[in-house]
Amino acid sequence: MAIIEVTDLKKSYGALEVLKRITLDINKNEVVAIIGPSGSGKSTLLRSLIHLEEISAGTIRIAGDDLVRNGVYAKPQYIKRITSRMGMVFQHFNLFPHLKVLENLELAPRLAKQGSPAELRDRSRELMHKIGLTERAEAYPANLSGGQKQRVAIARALMLNPEILLFDEPTSALDPELTGEVLEVMKQLAKEQMTMIVVTHEMGFAREVADRVIFMDQGEIIESGTPEQLFMNPVMDRTKAFLQRSY
Ligand code: ADP
Ligand code: MG
Repeated sequence: MAIIEVTDLKKSYGALEVLKRITLDINKNEVVAIIGPSGSGKSTLLRSLIHLEEISAGTIRIAGDDLVRNGVYAKPQYIKRITSRMGMVFQHFNLFPHLKVLENLELAPRLAKQGSPAELRDRSRELMHKIGLTERAEAYPANLSGGQKQRVAIARALMLNPEILLFDEPTSALDPELTGEVLEVMKQLAKEQMTMIVVTHEMGFAREVADRVIFMDQGEIIESGTPEQLFMNPVMDRTKAFLQRSY
């Protein structure tokens, strides 16, 4: 069952067409990796799904609700309800530097009036435990390693109980020795059947964890398949060329 349905999505910045007729379904509980060269539109696609960008044409349905249908967006209160089903994790963590870790986790649900302060504290502590950072709850982001910051960003995204998590190159800003701890948290979420779309350069992660890999180039989906199909038997020349460059 598709939880995300994208049909004929187009997105331009002025004269520059960065997404060209993207059509894509994501099933519930599926882990999809998106790979492709820089500038191919991967971030723009993710950001469009969660309404950080507005598309120029096409349809995006989330769990059966139209976020945008044939280029016409839902009313603001519906947009908020529809996008609240998703959480997003960014390359550069985007933690609030003036707030302690627990406060970072609790801010959005507090503003959305989702639970009492005590309930939010229980949830934030539970998630800190889940990411293996119980002892850093009172720290400020500046005093965490990059890997710890990204784990906190994942916990923060989970605070609102999303059904879908979007990751935009979550390990690209990390020193190589810190990527493992972040990928471990993501693997655990995959094991718990979280629906995930992960833009990544981590081919190992894509191979091991993704149910499906999508290769994008120049604003288009060029090819998609199981990790086995896409990595071992790519069909399209552009996919082959990209994979050769990436290993
Ligand atoms: P990727 O994430 O695959 O590297 P992006 O989605 O970031 O690609 O970018 C796709 C294209 O859109 C690039 O050519 C980029 O320069 C352009 N682009 C992205 N954001 C903007 C923006 N806010 N204004 C103008 N062009 C943009
Ligand atoms: Mg990007």
